[in-house]
Amino acid sequence: MEPLRLVKRRSEVMPPWRSQFPRMRYFAHRFDECLASGDVTNYGKYNKEFEEALTLYLQAPTVTFSSGMSALTTMLMAADVAGGEVICPSFTFCATPHAIRLAGATPVFADISTEHMTINPHEVEKKITPLTRAILGVDVYGMCCDYDWLTRIGRERGIKVMFDSAPAFGSSYNGDTIGHYGDGQIFSFHASKPFSTMEGGALCSRNKELMEKAKEIRHFGSDAVGNVSGVGLNGKMMEVCALVGLQNLETFPQDSLNRTAAASLLRRKLSGIKGMRVQRAPLCQSPIWMFRPIHIETNFGMSRDEVVNLLRSFDIIVRKDYSMPCHKMPIYNRGETLIITEKYASQVVSLPVYNDMTEHEMDRIAAALHNIQQGKF
Ligand SMILES: *Cc1c(COP(=O)(O)O)cnc(C)c1O
Repeated sequence: MEPLRLVKRRSEVMPPWRSQFPRMRYFAHRFDECLASGDVTNYGKYNKEFEEALTLYLQAPTVTFSSGMSALTTMLMAADVAGGEVICPSFTFCATPHAIRLAGATPVFADISTEHMTINPHEVEKKITPLTRAILGVDVYGMCCDYDWLTRIGRERGIKVMFDSAPAFGSSYNGDTIGHYGDGQIFSFHASKPFSTMEGGALCSRNKELMEKAKEIRHFGSDAVGNVSGVGLNGKMMEVCALVGLQNLETFPQDSLNRTAAASLLRRKLSGIKGMRVQRAPLCQSPIWMFRPIHIETNFGMSRDEVVNLLRSFDIIVRKDYSMPCHKMPIYNRGETLIITEKYASQVVSLPVYNDMTEHEMDRIAAALHNIQQGKF
């Protein structure tokens, strides 16, 4: 028997992310059966099986989606934010404010915390107005935002609190796998994320009313008997994606251990470089680390952009997420200043972490950064 995982021929170039997929033979017969019967979508049996497996893994009712973006837009629509404001960080992927806009609300950006790069609950409180309908925290890089504090604010003010946990599937908070926090959490299963179904996503919530509404919105706003009760979209996951998900979920407990171990070892290998700081997570959580962000500080001796370009000459391709913070994008720019967001946007480098990262790859990153800092390139 060949190994479950495709053994890839490694190119010398290290990409910003590397997905892991099961060999076709592990689900080919089931996919073939879908093709033969024509049951390729519309909540087929593999989608149901996958939703049950996710519900068990996440300890919260879970429904699948065609993407993280469709799950996020649906969650916000189901929370009835239209016509109001939703507070979110600017230091996030543009999908976060886009989903708020698509759900008919206005994104209001709050600054992030100096220590953890996630939305700062103090800043959230300052942005609450009579129009605030929800707080949408984001788990950037797979690091959880302050669920406890944000949900407390929501409870006190009577505002829904939800999470864009797109990159954080498999992260844990207070010892619990995330999924059941706040009024709802969404995950992305895009190929770039630590757990993937190629394209895909999920919404988890213990709020029954929100989940029922979300299921209708996911299916063109139509209810179980086919009456259209509101505006909806097509957010259905295809059977082939559910099959890939089922297969990947089997190995994910081990994959996620490998990944978090790689992220810690990488951090240790990066210690002691002058002017460079590796971002750490709060002690109460264990992030899945979609990326391992580092800060290039002023005493490093060169700019972040120079570092990124030099890493490329070592065949290490990295991203600068999120170097254009959302409040600076022309569509969202209202001329406001978010001090910490802007500072971090100018100094962050998102180092890669892979589920199957080798120690040799970590050494390559560490050696490249040591050399760059010492002017040896
Ligand atoms: C990846 C990501 C999304 C989008 O997920 P897709 O599955 O690509 O639609 C949304 N928000 C954040 C924070 C992300 O990282």
